[in-house]
Amino acid sequence: MSRFLSKKYAALSPYTPGEQPQDMKYIKLNTNESPFPPSPKAQKYAAEAASRMQLYPDPECRELTEKIAQLCGLEFENILVTNGSDEILNFAFMAFCDDEHPAIFPDITYGFYPVFAELNNIPYKELPLREDFTIDTSEYYGAGATIFIANPNAPTGIALPLSEIEAIVRNNPDNVVLIDEAYVDFGTESALSLIPKYDNLIVTQTFSKSRSMAGARLGFGAASAALIGDMNTIKYSTNPYNINRMTMAAGLGVLEDEEYTRRNCKTIEKTREYTLRELEKLGFEATASKANFIFVRHNAAGGEELYKTLKSRGILVRHFGKPRLCDYLRITIGAQDEMQALIDTLSDILGGKQ
Ligand code: PMP
Repeated sequence: MSRFLSKKYAALSPYTPGEQPQDMKYIKLNTNESPFPPSPKAQKYAAEAASRMQLYPDPECRELTEKIAQLCGLEFENILVTNGSDEILNFAFMAFCDDEHPAIFPDITYGFYPVFAELNNIPYKELPLREDFTIDTSEYYGAGATIFIANPNAPTGIALPLSEIEAIVRNNPDNVVLIDEAYVDFGTESALSLIPKYDNLIVTQTFSKSRSMAGARLGFGAASAALIGDMNTIKYSTNPYNINRMTMAAGLGVLEDEEYTRRNCKTIEKTREYTLRELEKLGFEATASKANFIFVRHNAAGGEELYKTLKSRGILVRHFGKPRLCDYLRITIGAQDEMQALIDTLSDILGGKQ
């Protein structure tokens, strides 16, 4: 730390992204990226946009925003497009949390929520998940706080039904409820349909997972025009040109190719179920994941040990050091041959241990 850093950031402990190793080629199952390349249309449009890179992009992101709104059954005023969904999450913490509106979220969830709270000097409370990692939604009724819930949750992959999401939103009419749907496209019902009914609901989604665009950084939030207006105030006070030309064009391309996205999601869901069946045969236990990753543990081998052994054999998965998580591995669903390599390697490692 330099002697110039503001005191307000001295104790900030930043989010640790999953490893992006540049040294050797791994089977990379650690950051929930898609194993499939972006749609050919997305690639083509991005390449065309690159030739106009000397010009600033449209700060309103109008064409893409309109297209997203249309797909969500909403209006232009209900959508804000951001640089990954991380950016809209930060906007929401900035816009809707303060001393009178602390943040609350589960104790086990996306690790960026406490970082956004600390970055913005917002008090926050973490509500413990039940022993089986499910959320007791009634604990969120009348919360008197701004609520952040990932659905499906990370890193467990466990999803709440829409009726339970709606009950949280309905029971907090005077507080904002943000539902983070980064992994919604792999088998969970979206809360987008509730937006016309509730002025306190924000739904965020990303192009990083189901749409194979993690490297382009594109996400969005959907909400009432008033909530979107508030977050636009933050956007235009920080980075009006938050979406670059190439990403904007790629986003349009991928949305013109919904069939490609749907097919890839189905493939990932099938591969997820296959992988779970095979890992259960090897003695693993798993949560009921509806995401493009699984969350598993084995009685005879610790999470850290398995993570390290897999890495030494060229397979990267995610391990978290937190007490309730340290026995587990979070494994992204890759291509079928990558998952077969994982299953074969784990079978070999666990050999005598089953
Ligand atoms: N929400 C959750 C639950 C996530 O796991 C992630 C991915 N790390 C994000 C949001 C943010 O993803 P992105 O910024 O790539 O849209």
